[in-house]
Amino acid sequence: MALVNLSTRGSVAVVTIDNPPVNALSAGVPEEIQAAIEAAEKDPSVQAVVLIGAGRTFIAGADIKDLERAAAGESGAGPDLHSLLQRIEDCSKTVVMAMHGTALGGGMEVAMAGHFRVARPDAQFGMPEVNLGIIPGAEGTQRLPRLIGPAAAIDMCVSGRPIKADAALMLGLIDKIIEGDLLEGAIQFAVELAPERGPIRKTRERSEKLVADSKVFEAGRETARKTRRNTFAALDAVDAIEAAVTLPFDQGCRRERELVRKRLESDECRALIHAFFAERAAAKVADVPKDTPVLPIAKAAILGAGTMGSGIAMACANSGIAVRLKDVEQWALDRAMASIRKNYESSVQKGRFTAEVAAQRIAAIHPQTGYEGFEDADLIIEAAFENMELKKRLFWELDAVAKAVCVLATNTSTLDIDEIASVTKRPERVIGLHFFSPANVMRLVEIVRGAKTGKEILGTALALAKRLGKVGVVVGNCRGFAGNRMMLPYMREAQFIAEEGSTPSEVDGALWDFGMAMGIFAVDDMGGIDVGHRVREEYGHLLQPWPSAVEKLYEMGRLGQKTGKGWYKYEDGRTPIRDPEVEAMIAQTAQAAGVSRRSIPKNEIVDRCIYTLVNEAARILEEGYADRAADIDVIYVTGYGFPAYRGGPMWYADSAGLKKVYDRVSEFHRRYGERWEPAPLLKRLAESGGTFAGFDASKTIDQQP
Ligand code: NAD
Repeated sequence: MALVNLSTRGSVAVVTIDNPPVNALSAGVPEEIQAAIEAAEKDPSVQAVVLIGAGRTFIAGADIKDLERAAAGESGAGPDLHSLLQRIEDCSKTVVMAMHGTALGGGMEVAMAGHFRVARPDAQFGMPEVNLGIIPGAEGTQRLPRLIGPAAAIDMCVSGRPIKADAALMLGLIDKIIEGDLLEGAIQFAVELAPERGPIRKTRERSEKLVADSKVFEAGRETARKTRRNTFAALDAVDAIEAAVTLPFDQGCRRERELVRKRLESDECRALIHAFFAERAAAKVADVPKDTPVLPIAKAAILGAGTMGSGIAMACANSGIAVRLKDVEQWALDRAMASIRKNYESSVQKGRFTAEVAAQRIAAIHPQTGYEGFEDADLIIEAAFENMELKKRLFWELDAVAKAVCVLATNTSTLDIDEIASVTKRPERVIGLHFFSPANVMRLVEIVRGAKTGKEILGTALALAKRLGKVGVVVGNCRGFAGNRMMLPYMREAQFIAEEGSTPSEVDGALWDFGMAMGIFAVDDMGGIDVGHRVREEYGHLLQPWPSAVEKLYEMGRLGQKTGKGWYKYEDGRTPIRDPEVEAMIAQTAQAAGVSRRSIPKNEIVDRCIYTLVNEAARILEEGYADRAADIDVIYVTGYGFPAYRGGPMWYADSAGLKKVYDRVSEFHRRYGERWEPAPLLKRLAESGGTFAGFDASKTIDQQP
């Protein structure tokens, strides 16, 4: 079947790209567009050409598989768009790009080579390359500033954020918004309005907007450094846009190509492409094939209207799922509804959606203290206190009220799903749905598979995560699942480092510089020192010894952000400020424990924190609680603030080389003893020259490649 179709409507040739699902520029598409343009140009009855996408969007972008191959060093991977763009631009007949859906990256670059662009009011336009560690590579950095000026071009390429049609019209990226039928409007534009605008103008020959003083570029670089810490793609995009202003078009394109090559060879680009594909791969679970029946979810019920219950209720309401939100306390329900309302009001103020939409979503959440309506729910999510006895009682009650096909989920962060399921007569319908706080914002959901959880329930959970706009990652039922199981020893190691001589802010500073969204002490203060205390009470025996400062903190009533004091002090409730009182307390506990203190270099802080994560993750992988290393990467990038441009902890370790990681872990093992015992899998892979990415969890170690 043709990827591109050519037809005529009167004197207008219509070139339709038909490469589902998103009309990506994969092999064959550029060639067929070019052939269609050439055929239209030769046809004497044709006056103008309209290029449009079939289905739900214009060209959504390049094929990222091609990009992955190029980043892996494969030469000739992906189509060279240069000749296509020139051919479109040099066409002697007016070429109008008719755009709907999302035109991103390569799609925008093709569109910008047209003589005019018209779009539907709900179309979006963006240059998201920076999110994959690259810059627009098909002359986008040269044409975009010619259309919208360097400052706006920098904004689009550095932020990677798409803009809407009205903004695009104002900037000059598009020439007209078409209300009603896009193709009809575009044809009319091509034959009636375009000729009125004078002779055809090639974007590459335009220069009226190419004015900027150096301050524009300096400001762009400043934003890039601030918003894209430790990475270079955004900075290179600014360089390329600057070249558009200072060099002729062809030389600017050459500069762009040089920068693209440099980008493709970077660790940043490879890691981001890995993170991109890892997220998609997470949805594929070997024993839950695509054709697994999935239960429809129209009505949900939530138990517990605290932090998590209210966030999950909003996540459901945002996706059109009606929610019954139950708590035992009326005041808890009132508080939840007030915070839900406030949240939606603030979204309306920010222009994310209209007041009517907000009202609909609020109306979809029904607060109640009883079980009424639970019998109709397709899905029930328990989000009450983290207490096994309570959860067992609640599941026993749910078993009595829920309909037979209902999915019974718990949002527990650490408890045993099988024990919870055991009180029901239907353990095969019980699953963990571990959302992260704030649950209406955070993208990760760990989907915890119990020993008896049915495939239909797993498939339904994966589909639900997708519907909620989240990334569902299936993990096994071990203590803390994957994410929190790794976080506990990481938190403990950070506290050992503090005991040994670094201040919490030095540790957090090193982690921040490494790229973590937050330092681990600040995370502890946000989660609550009391929450950590309860977890340690329950599982602390598994993680002995544990430095004593944190318990001292708990005794002092410094429970973190909620009390304005924890590892740090908080004057505005959320910005951590160093507190000499805590630093002195840590020094005293260290002295009492007989620990000699020293200044710990930054690289040691990072190695000890990150390799603790890696070592624990290796155990999780070997024990089969994660299906593949990439799943752990997705969990840490989407749920724990690990920098995507380092790919995730497993990718980071693979990139460093497992031999090097193992040697360092062994060094810490010799120095600190048992808590640093290398995970057997790390040792074996280091010795055999393997990688976590190459480890196949479904095979025994002797069957590994
Ligand atoms: P929370 O204390 O904010 O809310 C718990 C709510 O449950 C309270 O409103 C309480 O009144 C209600 N509740 C207690 N017993 C109940 C019952 N019998 N029936 C109905 N409601 C009842 O707690 P949270 O932070 O929302 O945590 C809830 C669950 O989610 C816990 O299992 C926790 O481990 C897990 N979790 C929390 C986070 C987090 O960051 N807070 C993240 C992931 C998972």
